[in-house]
Amino acid sequence: MFKKFCPSGGIGRHKGLKIPRPYGHAGSSPASGTNHMLKEKVIQVNHWSDRTFSFRTTRSESFRFNSGEFAMIGQEVDGKNVLRAYSIVSPDWADYLEFLSIKDVGPLTNQLSKVEEGAEVLLLPKCTGTLRDTFLTEGGKRLVLLATGTGLAPFMSTIRDIDLVEAYDKIHLVHSVRDRDDLAYWYELLSAFEDEPDLHELLKNKLEYTALVTGAGDERIDARFIQSDDRVMACGNLQFNYDVVEWCKALGMTEGSNREPGQFVIEKAFVDQ
Ligand SMILES: Cc1cc2nc3c(=O)[nH]c(=O)nc-3n(C[C@H](O)[C@H](O)[C@H](O)COP(=O)(O)OP(=O)(O)OC[C@H]3O[C@@H](n4cnc5c(N)ncnc54)[C@H](O)[C@@H]3O)c2cc1C
Repeated sequence: MFKKFCPSGGIGRHKGLKIPRPYGHAGSSPASGTNHMLKEKVIQVNHWSDRTFSFRTTRSESFRFNSGEFAMIGQEVDGKNVLRAYSIVSPDWADYLEFLSIKDVGPLTNQLSKVEEGAEVLLLPKCTGTLRDTFLTEGGKRLVLLATGTGLAPFMSTIRDIDLVEAYDKIHLVHSVRDRDDLAYWYELLSAFEDEPDLHELLKNKLEYTALVTGAGDERIDARFIQSDDRVMACGNLQFNYDVVEWCKALGMTEGSNREPGQFVIEKAFVDQ
């Protein structure tokens, strides 16, 4: 059962579902007077593979975000604060924060991959991002979520956003990884969160999950997953994102933004150097 979390007080209920959510959704704006760095405590760590892990932290009541957004998080490394963009995995109604991370690719992850319960994580209170349902035009029946590697992270939050789920008839999440062990959250996704009855009820007839293991010979994500009347969100490496733009444009779709909604939105899962 979900823990109840409402930054501005009270317990949110929605159409009989006992899934709590914040009243008076404050978007990604931090509560007033909270522009300083937040310090959260790690409360759970899960190593999926030697390449990927996830961790849960406490969540300050002032920390607000929209599903699909990323925050700047980090730690002190060699006496300096190293902060990096991280998509938020947990739903906006949870009283904790969760992140999915790559291991040992640079200064932050060399340290973060060894993090244990009780460690401190730094967090800037302002979140942002383009993977927002409000950047998509209304009227789509199917939402297609395309992710490579840790690009899955924002969609774990998206698929547990009650308003968003209710706006679509079907949500198809496609996750591509190199090795089977990197299929983070596969059980939750395959079973439509069967261990969480209210969430399962919401998702069981809507969520379709396709896992592709390219190292085992599965084909990569390509245009076959998209139809012209879909709404599409994609999060992956730079080349993948370029490809998705091309596939969507070939179907006559336009890219959505905060200025003008469209049929698809994309976000980088990391910055190539
Ligand atoms: C919008 C956005 C959201 C992001 N969300 C996440 C997230 O949810 N989880 C996450 O692990 N990272 C995410 N990143 C990447 C993250 O910001 C850091 O780059 C990553 O944590 C590595 O930090 P570092 O200091 O160890 O190495 P860096 O110096 O930042 O990176 C070193 C190199 O490692 C590679 N790399 C970095 N991150 C990844 C990755 N996730 N997968 C594969 N290769 C990578 C790149 O080639 C990069 O140039 C995101 C990046 C952006 C721009």
